[in-house]
Amino acid sequence: MDGSNHPETAPVLILLGPPGAGKGTQARVLQEKFGLVQLSTGDLLRGAVAAGTKAGKEAKAVMEAGGLVSDSIVLEVLSDRLSEPDCAAGVVLDGFPRTTGQAEALDEMLAVSGQKINAAIALEVDNVKMVLRIAGRFTCGDCGEGYHDTFKPTTTDGVCDGCGSTNMTRRADDNAQTVMSRLDAYQLQTEPLISYYDAKGALSRVDAMGDIEAIGQSIAQIVSKVTA
Ligand code: AMP
Repeated sequence: MDGSNHPETAPVLILLGPPGAGKGTQARVLQEKFGLVQLSTGDLLRGAVAAGTKAGKEAKAVMEAGGLVSDSIVLEVLSDRLSEPDCAAGVVLDGFPRTTGQAEALDEMLAVSGQKINAAIALEVDNVKMVLRIAGRFTCGDCGEGYHDTFKPTTTDGVCDGCGSTNMTRRADDNAQTVMSRLDAYQLQTEPLISYYDAKGALSRVDAMGDIEAIGQSIAQIVSKVTA
């Protein structure tokens, strides 16, 4: 991988946390507030599956089962996206890295362009409650706004508050059984990254069980400090 076309000062932020912790929601907030590009490996992989690429065909069954796609496929889709010019503004990584191998590969890739991670922000939640949170969520297929049957319903049933679209989508892997597998994968393979970034002095922790806006403000304070 080669991020050498990106300036040394471009911020690189990581959002860590189990499925349902709000990584996608908060990455979108950071994108708006700081002009960073949200890079979700889940979104990139779902795009590859929908497009029927070789990587997508290999990833499909693993994603449906709630497991982790191989590091080589994930690194391939991520490095392709990272080499696009808009990422020179800085990125917020959502759902990546998820294994120690991915974290090491990211460090190596950034070192090529003299960059390093500004912060890894761990969104701390009650893992058990995440099943409830995920099972009711849906997204506007046109503008990407996220909703939840119980916690954040649309004002008019089936109509996006933001753009008026009725094109609402639910992820195939947001069912209770797959969510349990995704939580297991998180605890086994991703949670150790909290110590990985703590040891580097790059970790910040945020209580992510409360109000979305307040959590966004806590994260923004951290980002302002590390990018000043
Ligand atoms: P997400 O949208 O981040 O919840 O990811 C959805 C699914 O995509 C996960 O359950 C994994 O199967 C796969 N996936 C996303 N990001 C990664 C990653 N960094 N490493 C391995 N698998 C991933």
